[in-house]
Amino acid sequence: MIGKTGGHDDTIVAIATAPGVGAIAVIRLSGPEAVHITDKLFPARNLAEQPGHTLHFGSLQQYGKVIDEVVVSLYRAPKSYTGEDVVEISCHGSSYIQQQVLEACISGGARMARPGEFTQRAFLNGKLDLTQAESVADLIASNTAASHQTAMQQMRGGFSRELFALREQLIKFSALIELELDFSQEDVEFADRRALYTLVNEALAEVERLVQSFKAGNVIKNGVNTAIIGRPNAGKSTLLNTLLNENRAIVSDIAGTTRDTIEEVLNIGGILFRLIDTAGIRESTDTIESIGVQKSLEKMREAGIVLYLFDVAELSVDELLAQVREFDKEGLQFMLVGNKADVPGFEEARAKFSLVPGVIFISAKEHGHVDELKEKLVAHVMGGSINTENTIITNVRHYAALQEVYAALRDVKSGMDNRLPGDLLALDIRRSLHFLADIAGEVTNEDRLDYIFSKFCIGK
Ligand code: GDP
Repeated sequence: MIGKTGGHDDTIVAIATAPGVGAIAVIRLSGPEAVHITDKLFPARNLAEQPGHTLHFGSLQQYGKVIDEVVVSLYRAPKSYTGEDVVEISCHGSSYIQQQVLEACISGGARMARPGEFTQRAFLNGKLDLTQAESVADLIASNTAASHQTAMQQMRGGFSRELFALREQLIKFSALIELELDFSQEDVEFADRRALYTLVNEALAEVERLVQSFKAGNVIKNGVNTAIIGRPNAGKSTLLNTLLNENRAIVSDIAGTTRDTIEEVLNIGGILFRLIDTAGIRESTDTIESIGVQKSLEKMREAGIVLYLFDVAELSVDELLAQVREFDKEGLQFMLVGNKADVPGFEEARAKFSLVPGVIFISAKEHGHVDELKEKLVAHVMGGSINTENTIITNVRHYAALQEVYAALRDVKSGMDNRLPGDLLALDIRRSLHFLADIAGEVTNEDRLDYIFSKFCIGK
């Protein structure tokens, strides 16, 4: 509920640490009564008179009974995560104590927070813009170096800054064009058309880069389903073991996957490669005509990338080309990997296969060129853009809005090519501005905000 002053008039509480038992747990309160509610449970200090950014040790009590010895961290509005008064009670991590502290706060007048409500308040109080708030959820969910870095970049405002600069420019030009409209009888042009044209082109290039980065961003955030297929004895198990020995990912919980269809997960260059169970495919002697083909194809279609492994001494160039045609027909992303490069006669095989573009040769058993395979694999799924220093889009909402921005700017550009009058150009510029503002959360209605924040965990 929003109070008269624009701030929230209720105080929320939640356990901020992970569910279950830990050495310590943190219960967080935010709102106008946060300090008062804690104060009543914490006789050691008169918290109401303490300044913000201070820590206080003492016993937490209810009805004269000690619940736990705790440390209370005090933050005063507006210098806190949410912009409101915030109290964090660090207690011992037993589930029983956590529940007792939570219940004591609720009976003192706080209400259980909804998922993401702390961050939602931070957004509503102007502490974060929407893209930064959303990246908090990504940061918490990040489980590789690359996903952590992209989320961190976004939380610290990298993306917002880029959008802001773009908007500033467009606003300036749209203002000038609109000014012209007031003088439409006099046929003046305040907005320098050449400069506007250059700006639109630059903006288009930048927005296009961001839109393109979504593929890479998605790979970084969600990982990529990977299938290693090939005929029996091609060396699939050997390659799998080599990769697992060096790159097995330690992932306790990977979003968006059902455990039983995933065999193993590799972390290569900060990207999670989820190896999908291709047992069905492995059994079949030839990929296409054999029994179970349909099932194999379905499996392969689940894959973001297929590694087709073949024994350089066993497969003919024609057979490989036939395989490539099948992959192309199915629209699959694939890499061709010639294995057993350590066997005698390999050089002849290499010459033979040089007719087929893009083949990588490795020795799964001797670990030959496996690093090169990994590099190519990462480059392939990232669509070439491996640099996580650049702003990368990971959020579907941003992606959709940026596509709208792109379309609007394209219309501005073609409008200028066709010498459309200023009022029509102004419409398209305003449309692009609308979607840029939307990304930062400036035109978002309350239902949409609730939806966005509901995807957070409670306590955040
Ligand atoms: P899968 O049926 O595709 O899983 O193939 P395996 O991994 O079981 O390998 C089949 C045979 O090829 C085994 O005897 C492996 O030791 C051998 N092999 C696998 N990779 C290589 C390699 O790089 N070089 C050589 N010389 N043999 C390999």
